[in-house]
Amino acid sequence: MRNKKIIIAIDGLSGSGKSSTAKLLAKEMNYKYLDSGAMYRAVTLYIIENSIDYKNLKKLKIILNKIRLEFIKNNASGSYQIYLNNENVHKKIRSKKVSELVSEISKISIIRKKLVQMQRIIGDKKGIVMEGRDIATVVFPNAELKIFMQADLNIRAKRRFKEFEKLGKKITLEEVKLNLIDRDDKDSNREDSPLKVTSDSLILDTTSISLEDQIEFIKKEAKKIIN
Ligand code: C5P
Repeated sequence: MRNKKIIIAIDGLSGSGKSSTAKLLAKEMNYKYLDSGAMYRAVTLYIIENSIDYKNLKKLKIILNKIRLEFIKNNASGSYQIYLNNENVHKKIRSKKVSELVSEISKISIIRKKLVQMQRIIGDKKGIVMEGRDIATVVFPNAELKIFMQADLNIRAKRRFKEFEKLGKKITLEEVKLNLIDRDDKDSNREDSPLKVTSDSLILDTTSISLEDQIEFIKKEAKKIIN
């Protein structure tokens, strides 16, 4: 069946290259792309900007209903960008403040429940590359192709540091590195939906392979399933 569409779940460590790979892969396969991390970041941004006491779960539940997230195509770049209550926040969600708090916020089950529900609706029709931490384990445990990406910590820190530089954000390489260590630890050890490798995931170590080779690897695996 030439037109069979599948779900490609890409999970992995922070800065392992998930976003670049998933985005380009989706483009080449003519699939949808979803950056689930952007959704956790947008909720975190809302909590920061509105000084929400996120430990008060009763209030948080009410507040969550006021948060509207959308991915809208940007005509200039051609890519989809995240909107929080009608505001384009795709740059704001990459701030140091958000990066420092996001793993604390994404531990909260009522937030995960709401975002997972949205992610399932978006991926419902298949033909999607979705990246995050719990896509293969929780969001789409039946995804036809599951990839777990990892890379050496120093390489990951350098990559993220370059991204910050591009956005004009002031941060040191050491700060980026500490943030990655902290997030990997929190994301892997939380109670609800920790980051882990499933037995049916393929491991892709991106320490020393090019973006093109990463995409070739995944495309080859996808073709095996589609054909
Ligand atoms: O992918 P990114 O690094 O932007 O994700 C930011 C954070 O969002 C992660 O460190 C993690 O705490 C949270 N996240 C999550 N589950 C996902 C995607 C992201 O908990 N599916």
